[in-house]
Amino acid sequence: MDTGPDPRQPTPHADQPTPASRPVAVACPFCRSPDVEPMALFGSHLMTEHYYCRACRTPFERVKDDQGA
Ligand SMILES: [Zn+2]
Repeated sequence: MDTGPDPRQPTPHADQPTPASRPVAVACPFCRSPDVEPMALFGSHLMTEHYYCRACRTPFERVKDDQGA
């Protein structure tokens, strides 16, 4: 069978960096700074994580999204 010349098609999986492969970075919701550090867990909020932004010195909490599954 003659299928003709096979044109080199661009693969959908190019060598572009996939942002999904990066670890989840927590950024400050107030100043968008990634310079945050996790605070001690209080135990009462299992679905949330407390962080402290060292940029604007504001504590904030982040809701975990790994529930269910
Ligand atoms: Zn901040």
